[in-house]
Amino acid sequence: MTTRTADLAIIGSGSGNSLITPFWDDRRVVIAERGVFGGTCLNVGCIPTKMYVRPATLARSGEEAARVDVTLRTEAVDWPGMRDRIFSRIDAISAAGEHYRAVELDNVDLVSQEVRVERLRSAGDTSGAHTLVAADGTRIEATQLVIAAGSRAERLDVPGGDLPQVHTSDTIMRLDELPARVLVVGGGYIASEFSGIFSGLGAEVVQVIRGDQLMRALDHELSERFTAEAERHWELRRGRTLRAVVPAEDGGVTAELDGPDGVERWDADVVLVAIGRRPNSDLVGAAAAGIDLHDDGRIVVDAFQRVLAGGLPVPGLYALGDISSSHQLKHVANHEARIVAHNLEHPDDLRTSRQDAVPAAVFAYPELAQVGLTESQAAEQFGAEHVTTKLQHYGDTAYGWAMADDSGVCKVVADRRDGRILGAHILGYQASNLIQPLITAMSFGIDARTFARGQYWVHPALMEVVENALLGLDVPDGDLVA
Ligand code: NAP
Repeated sequence: MTTRTADLAIIGSGSGNSLITPFWDDRRVVIAERGVFGGTCLNVGCIPTKMYVRPATLARSGEEAARVDVTLRTEAVDWPGMRDRIFSRIDAISAAGEHYRAVELDNVDLVSQEVRVERLRSAGDTSGAHTLVAADGTRIEATQLVIAAGSRAERLDVPGGDLPQVHTSDTIMRLDELPARVLVVGGGYIASEFSGIFSGLGAEVVQVIRGDQLMRALDHELSERFTAEAERHWELRRGRTLRAVVPAEDGGVTAELDGPDGVERWDADVVLVAIGRRPNSDLVGAAAAGIDLHDDGRIVVDAFQRVLAGGLPVPGLYALGDISSSHQLKHVANHEARIVAHNLEHPDDLRTSRQDAVPAAVFAYPELAQVGLTESQAAEQFGAEHVTTKLQHYGDTAYGWAMADDSGVCKVVADRRDGRILGAHILGYQASNLIQPLITAMSFGIDARTFARGQYWVHPALMEVVENALLGLDVPDGDLVA
């Protein structure tokens, strides 16, 4: 049986791939990937979905144009054209990344198989190796190991749940044609983004949620507003769960839902199940290797991204990204990869990863973005009497008038004692960009009033919605008031 030895082994070619810095040029590295090279974000996640969001937004721009007295009609949507444009670009990047690692770099071995951790270096073992075993029996002995094996889409175990018409985000973007009827199960990030994409492109969308609101983890006001907006654009079935999917004669399916009034049936061409992503710790054999796990299956890491076993860091063992993070966000995985890259190279000068002011954006219709605490989290943490909020409508700013916007809002949550920004939540056009100054203020500890009044804000840009939200907070004057 083949045994490979390495100074560094990496499981997962998403953010894990970026760990192979020039530091490793004279050292041996093994990188293992069980799926398509490049990971979730590139192949089936953030990037291709946004490449669909853009045409979907354009295709539905007639709605926004009508508000400002312009009639725009979308003539056609060429799904095969956009799919091929998107994936010819993505597949080429994935293939080039794989070729670079597998062929061009002499010091790197690519193992295109599932690998499991067989044995870890024990505490106090300064010179031993971690042992991995690949599906074909190949053994890998590595002094340092990084587990960056990501997560995978959860499936629903219901009759018909494995029919070819039932998809996850792994497969739905590669459909041969634009489905006319899409039934989406779930009310989180992925379900909301795809409901926006398919409805924008002209499909009839039915979104099925077990609870009452979409994006429940958001600030409650934003979640309520987003749910109301979604209902303006597609059908939302609340308080319902998928009980079965039955093939239909026309090649589609009938989805049977359990709900408050009994069983309800919806015909669809495809079903998208988007009910969360499970960390791949089971696939790498983490529990059997003695690695500590959270209840949801995530690997436990300390502030240095070191993996814990029995509560103690294992020498030369790190994890990053979806397999260990509660955020499941690419920018978090990339940040953690930069920290791990440093820590691998400087074991005597470890850095900690930043887990505060972590932003997220949902490229749904409309867009959502958030950073920090919701109003209720802030009240729970600091006491409601110390929390001030301001909800600023896009429509009450000059650019909002220009857009004739009637739904966009920016809500800022702050500590009324010192003006510290605790959280920010935006729903509406360009939310993912408008949130950035608020991330800056939180990251660098600039209080709300100083931040609002210590700089110019371009008039009459839409960013004034952020300025006005900050100015509307009941907080002390900052250092620079003018
Ligand atoms: P998610 O955002 O955690 O949402 C899961 C949804 O599925 C929730 O609405 C949940 O309902 C529902 N659900 C869970 N179990 C269910 C069940 N058994 N039956 C019916 N519904 C069920 O998960 P996701 O949308 O799959 O996305 C996974 C992660 O990927 C996200 O958390 C996010 O971190 C990441 N992501 C990020 C982006 C972005 O940054 N733009 C985009 C896509 C994905 P309840 O609300 O009732 O709990």
